[in-house]
Amino acid sequence: MDFAVLKPLGPGSRTVLKRQKGLASYQNRRDFTRTTEPQVRNEKRKKASEKPIFVIQQHAARSMHYDVRLEIDGVLVSWAVPKGPSTNPRDKRLAVLTENHPLAYADFEGVIPEGEYGAGEVIVWDRGSYDNLKEQKSMAECFDDGTIEVFLHGEKLEGGYALVRMKTGEKNWLLIKMADDYADARRNPVKSEPESVVSGVTIKELKKSKK
Ligand code: MN
Repeated sequence: MDFAVLKPLGPGSRTVLKRQKGLASYQNRRDFTRTTEPQVRNEKRKKASEKPIFVIQQHAARSMHYDVRLEIDGVLVSWAVPKGPSTNPRDKRLAVLTENHPLAYADFEGVIPEGEYGAGEVIVWDRGSYDNLKEQKSMAECFDDGTIEVFLHGEKLEGGYALVRMKTGEKNWLLIKMADDYADARRNPVKSEPESVVSGVTIKELKKSKK
C-alpha cells in the first residue's frame, strides 16, 4: 500500500503530473495473486501513428462510478466519475483523479474479489480512440494546466469533452460535454445503454452470475 499517494497536495502544487507518472501506486494497491486485473508489464504501443485510446469502465465498487481513462504518455490517466458521463453540456460531472492504470486495463472486465482494492464488478462501458483538441499543447501539458479538451471516438460517446481541474483541490475535476454537433440533452446513455461494448453484459447481470 502506497500511502504517499493518499496525502493531500499543498496549494498551488505543480507536482500532480509527476506524482501521476508511472504505475507504482497501481501496482502497490493490488494483490495479483487474488485479483484478475492486469499486472504492470513493459507495454509498448503497437504503432506510433495510432491514435491514443480512451476507456470508460463502469465499476460497482462500494459506490457505483464510471472510471474515465485517457492514454497519456503510455499510461491510462484515470478519473472516477460517480454519475458517469453526460451528453448534455449543461451537466458538470465531478471527476475525481485516481491512480494511473496500465494500458492493458482497457480490456479488463470482471469481478474484483471481496476484500481487495476496488472490490466489485467492472465492465467496459465504452472505449475507442481520442484526439487532443488543444493542438498547440501535449496532453501532458494540458493535464498539468488542468484543462483537457478531447474529441472522443467511442461506441456510445462521440464528440468533444472537457476535463477541468477545480480550484478546490488537485484531485477534483469536472467532466463536461462540449457544445458541439454531438451534444444531446435528451440522450442519457448511462441509463439507456448499460451494457458492455465488449461482451454485452451489464453490471446487473454480472452481479447475478456471481451468486
Ligand atoms: Mn473504479
